[in-house]
Amino acid sequence: MNLVDQVRQAGVVGAGGGGFPTHVKLAAKADTVIVNGAECEPLLHKDAILMEQEAKAMVRGIQLAMEAVGAKTGIVGIKAKNHHAVESVQAACAGGPVRVHLLGDYYPAGDEYDLVFETTGRLIPPGGIPLQVGAVVCNVETFINVAAAAEGRAVTHKTLTVAGAVRNPMTLTVPLGTSLSECLAAAGGATVPDPVLSVGGMMMGETVEDLNRPVTKTTGGFIVLPRTHRIIERKLKPAKVQNAIGKSACDQCRYCTEYCPRYLLGYAVEPHQVMRSLAFTASGKDQWNQWAQMCCACGLCTLFACPEELYPKEACDQSKAEMKQAGIKWTGPTEVRPHPMRDGRRVPIKSLMRKLHILQYDHPAPWQKLELKPARLVLPLKQSAGAPAAASVQAGERVKAGQKLADIPASTLAAALHAPCDATVAEVTGRHVILACN
Ligand code: SF4
Ligand code: SF4
Repeated sequence: MNLVDQVRQAGVVGAGGGGFPTHVKLAAKADTVIVNGAECEPLLHKDAILMEQEAKAMVRGIQLAMEAVGAKTGIVGIKAKNHHAVESVQAACAGGPVRVHLLGDYYPAGDEYDLVFETTGRLIPPGGIPLQVGAVVCNVETFINVAAAAEGRAVTHKTLTVAGAVRNPMTLTVPLGTSLSECLAAAGGATVPDPVLSVGGMMMGETVEDLNRPVTKTTGGFIVLPRTHRIIERKLKPAKVQNAIGKSACDQCRYCTEYCPRYLLGYAVEPHQVMRSLAFTASGKDQWNQWAQMCCACGLCTLFACPEELYPKEACDQSKAEMKQAGIKWTGPTEVRPHPMRDGRRVPIKSLMRKLHILQYDHPAPWQKLELKPARLVLPLKQSAGAPAAASVQAGERVKAGQKLADIPASTLAAALHAPCDATVAEVTGRHVILACN
């Protein structure tokens, strides 16, 4: 079996949050393979810890990926501040074709467009993907999973950071399907009543009130905050209210655009123009929507730049959804030229944390080698970009650790799913396989 098939069989997907099935990326041809180790979501540390602890496996995964796509160059993008991780990765790369590229501590260093430009000097065409400039980009944990797949091991566990208002912030590895509440309990529980979680981070993650949600292949961690936290209150406002505030209060100051990393990289993203779509709903909305198309949803405009605390990122989300539904493709400028002020306008993580009111939670989250053994695992069939996997087991069946539970439907973009432990299949629904572990 070649690497692409091994990775396909093992159910490897982008572990950084995107969830794109990795076998599809590795079936392409590229001259460069890049590791996205920027990990710029404040308070989340699992990639830095994995690079420190599992550098050899990660570099092995990169080298295998390089062979598969025919690349001569491998680059690990990693923040210089993560000294231990840098040392481990440099040692693992010594004498080989993979090099380390040190990044500054700013947000969003992990945006693929930004990372590809920083590490190779190449600019991805508007609306394009890294492959168009000869690069394949994957997350740290993805490459570790690629190395495991080459040894016949499927993706059954996930490493994540539990941070924020918890007794013992930590990074831990748990079986897929473990509930967020069990991860929270492992970290000593919340230190605040009525906690709300930012799953995937405060900037690009999802605000989650249901602690029974399971950990999936894309859960990089979560931040626990009180419901009364200023940012949580803002995030929990219904879209209708966000739009109404934006419509009446946006003074078109342009701060959202001036700080936008995609605008500064030279793409035609101008969130202040998108805000006009809220006011001009009857006429011109289509025109204003266009300015959102290259937005990467980093959240900087809403959570850092806007002095009025409005919601330009959410306005961009809406605009993109409307354009997708209407089948509108990019017709704007194709030339990309970085803004002369780009370097000076980068947002340091510390400044971002201050603005997010989370400096008090800025603690290490060391790796704890705990072995969580939940009695019940809820495994969503859809844990990747594309379609859900198709269950291949039935209720009542006994399964072994690593056994396939669901496969990729024919001619579909999806990822296979495997059992994290020996178990009995308790239930198979249209959306989940539920395991009783014993
Ligand atoms: S920063 Fe805020 S107030 Fe200024 S243009 Fe953007 S959304 Fe409007
Ligand atoms: S979320 Fe805002 S700052 Fe980020 S890319 Fe989109 S428009 Fe720009």
